[in-house]
Amino acid sequence: MVDSVKYTLGEERIPKHWYNLMADLPSLPPPVLHPGTLKPVGPDDLAPLFPMSLIRQEVSTEREVEIPEPVREVYKQWRVTPLYRARRLERALQTPARIYYKYEGVSPAGSHKPNTAVAQAFYNKEAGVKKITTETGAGQWGSSLAFAGAVFGIDVQVFMVRVSYNQKPYRRALMETYGAKCIASPSMETNYGRSVLEKSPDSNGSLGIAISEAVEIAAGHDDTKYALGSVLNHVLLHQTVIGQEAIEQLAIANDYPDVIVGCTGGGSNFAGIVFPFLGAQLRGGRKVRIVAVEPSACPSLTRGRYAYDFGDTGHMTPLTKMHTLGSTFIPPGFHAGGLRYHGMAPLVSHIKQLGLIEARAYHQTQCFEAGVFFARHEGIVPAPEANHAVKGAIDEAVRCREEGKSRAILFNLCGHGHFDMQAYMDYFGGRLTDQEYDERELAMALSGLPAVPEPA
Ligand SMILES: *Cc1c(COP(=O)(O)O)cnc(C)c1O
Repeated sequence: MVDSVKYTLGEERIPKHWYNLMADLPSLPPPVLHPGTLKPVGPDDLAPLFPMSLIRQEVSTEREVEIPEPVREVYKQWRVTPLYRARRLERALQTPARIYYKYEGVSPAGSHKPNTAVAQAFYNKEAGVKKITTETGAGQWGSSLAFAGAVFGIDVQVFMVRVSYNQKPYRRALMETYGAKCIASPSMETNYGRSVLEKSPDSNGSLGIAISEAVEIAAGHDDTKYALGSVLNHVLLHQTVIGQEAIEQLAIANDYPDVIVGCTGGGSNFAGIVFPFLGAQLRGGRKVRIVAVEPSACPSLTRGRYAYDFGDTGHMTPLTKMHTLGSTFIPPGFHAGGLRYHGMAPLVSHIKQLGLIEARAYHQTQCFEAGVFFARHEGIVPAPEANHAVKGAIDEAVRCREEGKSRAILFNLCGHGHFDMQAYMDYFGGRLTDQEYDERELAMALSGLPAVPEPA
């Protein structure tokens, strides 16, 4: 019996730098614009929300950004994360493919998100910040920032999308265990939340609304800053420890991926595993096929428009050019809460536009089917978001079988599903449906995109 193989590395092999894809791109993404003047934003525009060190990383084009030693110290608790060869899954699929997965579920919060939460909490602490506000969908990001806040002694206030707040009470309990304050969004705590509730008292909430609430609080208090768990360049940057480690681990396996698969909500775990490989390719290394997988009910990369849009529903953020469903689009309440965002990271959108990656959308029941199949052969229960990557990887492996090709497939198992068992119970009980988004609502949200003249 050939069993699954684990490739481990000691903590001394945790990367010393984050990798910045900007340095190797053939062209830079379009600038972030001030919503009032439509001029590129400067560091001062962002200073009320973020410490200057993170703003510098946001605009950096240097290839390597040093990881501060205190951040590496915290990473040591769970990094280097394991890379597995999924031999039992391969056998079950009767595929000649070699399937590898990088497992980020071993972090304290159970996903890749602490990679950036710890870094962001460190830089905020260094800047003398007392409190950080944020939003969370499924609760993965909120619990990751709550953990990081506990490590560095910063108060954390989390606006949690209401549908998830009700669906996932244990994530809320986890945030509170780490000492954070968790509020269902839309809430009565902010002007924006109150305005939403006035119009729709039963609002399910959305990441876009929760972001507006968190930004409003941070912008109004000097000792308070805001943290985002995905989308922004510096967040994607912090996640690149994943791909850098995977390159080293695959070298031990004497292998290199032909295909890399990741799920995309805002794009950070995808960028984390993909960018170091893509950078190597852009510097003349081997070409890799890269597949982004998103939910059919919130398909920004496959069905959205590449346009300037707000990052939030209340229109308090700057404008970024990205694949977007429109900032007022509210996706149906499906279970992969971490993938319910109307936009996509500008950097991921840019490389999609350059033709460097492919994108594909799946419905939630086929993703759960894939996740359950994976769990029965590999033992790990994936988060509902990660099931999208599992489904994408299994489809690639099946294609290898049909074409009689032995390719190496690498995917990011970005989190475990231990707090998402209600979703699995709903799946087993036949209560999960494949919800279509409302085409009319999408058309309306897209028609409301801000008018930004094309640069001459
Ligand atoms: C938050 C989250 C996602 C989606 O965010 P990305 O920035 O696209 O990675 C996906 N998977 C898990 C487990 C998450 O917690």
